Amino acid sequence: MSDQIKYVLDESRIPKFWYNIAADLPKPPPPVLHPGTHQPIGPADLAPLFPTALIMQEVSTERQIEIPEPVRDVYRQWRPSPLYRARRLEKALETPAKIYYKYEGVSPAGSHKPNTAVAQAFYNKEAGVKKLTTETGAGQWGSALAFAGSVFGLEVKVFMVRVSYNQKPYRRALMETYGATCVPSPSNETQSGKSILAQRADHPGSLGIAISEAVEVAAQNEDTKYSLGSVLNHVLTHQTVIGQEAMAQLDMAGDYPDIIVGCTGGGSNFAGIAFPFIGAQLRGGRKVRVVAVEPSACPSLTRGKYAFDFGDTAHLTPLVKMHTLGSTFTPPGFHAGGLRYHGMAPMVSHLKELGLIEAVAYTQMKCFEAGVQFARTEGIVPAPEAIHAVLGAIDEALRCREEGKSKTILFNLSGHGHFDMQAYIEYFAGNLKDLAYDENELAMALAGLPSVKEAA
Ligand SMILES: *Cc1c(COP(=O)(O)O)cnc(C)c1O
Repeated sequence: MSDQIKYVLDESRIPKFWYNIAADLPKPPPPVLHPGTHQPIGPADLAPLFPTALIMQEVSTERQIEIPEPVRDVYRQWRPSPLYRARRLEKALETPAKIYYKYEGVSPAGSHKPNTAVAQAFYNKEAGVKKLTTETGAGQWGSALAFAGSVFGLEVKVFMVRVSYNQKPYRRALMETYGATCVPSPSNETQSGKSILAQRADHPGSLGIAISEAVEVAAQNEDTKYSLGSVLNHVLTHQTVIGQEAMAQLDMAGDYPDIIVGCTGGGSNFAGIAFPFIGAQLRGGRKVRVVAVEPSACPSLTRGKYAFDFGDTAHLTPLVKMHTLGSTFTPPGFHAGGLRYHGMAPMVSHLKELGLIEAVAYTQMKCFEAGVQFARTEGIVPAPEAIHAVLGAIDEALRCREEGKSKTILFNLSGHGHFDMQAYIEYFAGNLKDLAYDENELAMALAGLPSVKEAA
């Protein structure tokens, strides 16, 4: 038999808790610092931006955080998401390895992002918030939050990186269909946007600039809070429904992963699939090799510096210690829009420093080749972000073939590529190239990192 096998859990198996890896760490991560004083911040410093429940999750060291029943109710629409055994891909690769993938493209917005968007919208609604602001690059996060806002009756305003706003009208239309407002960034609606436009009227925008704009609006309006789709601890924690379900599904299959692969933009879907397994290992369970895959054109984990940096361009956010390319770094225009962030989740960076995860970087052409092979064997067209994880899994499977070893590989297929077919069109037309970032620009961006005196 060479066909796919699908492992389905019934809805009673939707996790009742999110898993917080902070409870199991051998060493706590560095503190988050105030951008002005460089002193550790407390929960009160974040209150203008986030509701208390999310701030408490951000700093929590409790292993399990209960998922509110109204959130599980919304999850029920697409969770538990399916786990597939990629038998047709295994056969095409002639590998003795077993390849499993968890498919998060079954959510309404087509990616893993609603797992946290729904939770964030719920807690904001509970706290009496009327309006959420956020940024989006390729549009996946904006559409996830727009969906969640429509479910809980919150207004959503999305600052969308201007190049994507112009290039991705369907994502924009999706956000508007859910009832959100979408503004190209940099915009004239904020001081941060205006000051960038004053320097360059046709500025293409960046995630760092869009974050500055969304944060500014939230900080200045009483009824408005800010929502972030990756990077922060509470976002990573919400995504752990992915790994917990995968563990139960692999159990049905009588299997356990030797290798886990995920793509990393800000680190949330990677954390979602990997943290429950890393946690089990830290509590004395089986050891897993965990591989983060990032684009060579925006290689924060493999080429960035582990240093304190700002999350945004206008330097409104706190300082966090992470692998960073510098907050002014603008990557070249490769197609995985969701992997273009200059930094990495501090928790993912911390695990890298502790030697609990590895990282590799791949160029875009090889990723698209892997994405097409995946579509032609497994039938699902992966998002341009997810093809990095696909290639990571294929590389591991090919290594198993060379070494004649049968290992179990699990990867997260973070979303489908139905809104990104232009990227595939350009790949087939031969218009895509492997883009290198500008070494001088990286050196400049790194030279501009804030200097922070660290306590020994
Ligand atoms: C946003 C996105 C990513 C990257 O974000 P992470 O926080 O690193 O997960 C990856 N895949 C898809 C489909 C996305 O939408």
